[in-house]
Amino acid sequence: MAGVGTSSRSAGLIERAEHLFPGGVSSPVRAFRSVGRPPLVLERGEGPYVWDADGRRFIDYIGGWGPAILGHADPAVTEAISKAIGNGLALGATNPAEIELGEAIRSAMPSMERLRFTSSGTEAVMSALRLARAATGRDLVVKFAGAYHGHADSMLVEAGSGVATQAIAGSAGVSDVVAATTIVLPYNDPDSVSLAFTEHAGRIAAVIVEPVAANTGVIVPIPGFLEHLRERTHAHGALLIFDEVITGFRLGRGGAQGRFDVRPDLTTLGKIIGGGMPIGAYGGRADLMDLVAPAGPVYQAGTLSGHPLSMAAGSATLAQLTEGRYVALEDTAAELADRLARAASKASRRASVAQIGPLLTVFFRASVPVNAEEALASDRAAFARFFGSMLDQGVLLPPSPFEAWFPSMAHGRAEIEATIEAATTAFEEAAA
Ligand code: PMP
Repeated sequence: MAGVGTSSRSAGLIERAEHLFPGGVSSPVRAFRSVGRPPLVLERGEGPYVWDADGRRFIDYIGGWGPAILGHADPAVTEAISKAIGNGLALGATNPAEIELGEAIRSAMPSMERLRFTSSGTEAVMSALRLARAATGRDLVVKFAGAYHGHADSMLVEAGSGVATQAIAGSAGVSDVVAATTIVLPYNDPDSVSLAFTEHAGRIAAVIVEPVAANTGVIVPIPGFLEHLRERTHAHGALLIFDEVITGFRLGRGGAQGRFDVRPDLTTLGKIIGGGMPIGAYGGRADLMDLVAPAGPVYQAGTLSGHPLSMAAGSATLAQLTEGRYVALEDTAAELADRLARAASKASRRASVAQIGPLLTVFFRASVPVNAEEALASDRAAFARFFGSMLDQGVLLPPSPFEAWFPSMAHGRAEIEATIEAATTAFEEAAA
């Protein structure tokens, strides 16, 4: 299977998109820039497969960037949306479906004593940070290098020079004043967290963390790291925010907080809880959430928040996420990780596979990274060749070396075998 030909339907659509959208896309990673391939135009998904505009089928590991844990076009989710659709789309008041999904989330994640729905993970994070600043009366927020928390200005920052110094803007258009309210620290480095609290005593409102880092590829927290964040934030009167937009309902029903048994003050969610419809949510301690309008003085709102189709799709998704299905999904991911690592070593490819639960990343470096600096030091060109070979063999990976692969509960024996067979060839072809 070759790349997109110039006369294909995909090529024509891409050309039109390029005249319409910046970079031809509605979100940057869809442009496939870091793998040097023309972007795909995907028209349809079903189970573990997606089809492009020329009818080519791929085994999908993008998984809609996280939401598609059941696979695409799950029949129960589709039916729930179809049922809800006839009742009107935006009634602008509380809807019974909101309460149902909210209660399902709270019973899975008891730290979310109260919560609020938003329309995206970005909004959830932005709102949680505003709340943290209001609750503590402090300005600074700690985040970790390489973590992605959506595109709110204060989160689009890079580490300044030296540990525990204030950040610099990581995107054009982010004001230095806003960037300076964020401190960027290396992930998995407890000492730098302690140092930040000493250097900025009484000024840190919150530490926000992806409890398993998934936006630099998968990086697992070292034992004790999350507990250290819990202990230091508590000791200094700061809040701990777990950004579980990816890990929520992915690492089990209780998310990362259930898996590692660390209770944050606030949590942000998105992706899976909307079953593929637009969604976000933030929540946590009741005393904090009661500061949110109209209960309290922290303003936050949304015309489409709690949208009935998102609520219906979310509830129909969560209802299917049983313990048994998580175990099966984790087995799939563990088998993939193990056999990918063996295929790499057979091809004498310098690669390592990070995996936890149903999240995995193949890194083209000798050992799995513990932080973003190590992740970024992997061989990007080798990944691009690997990606291209997999694509040509009908396997669609996330088009960047620094993303998690998202196998779904619909990926079965046939897809695992086909993926490993393709990878065996692709590791050979990844040689320069
Ligand atoms: N937080 C994390 C950890 C994410 O991975 C993302 C998106 N990938 C976001 C926040 C932002 O979510 P959204 O794209 O829905 O705004």
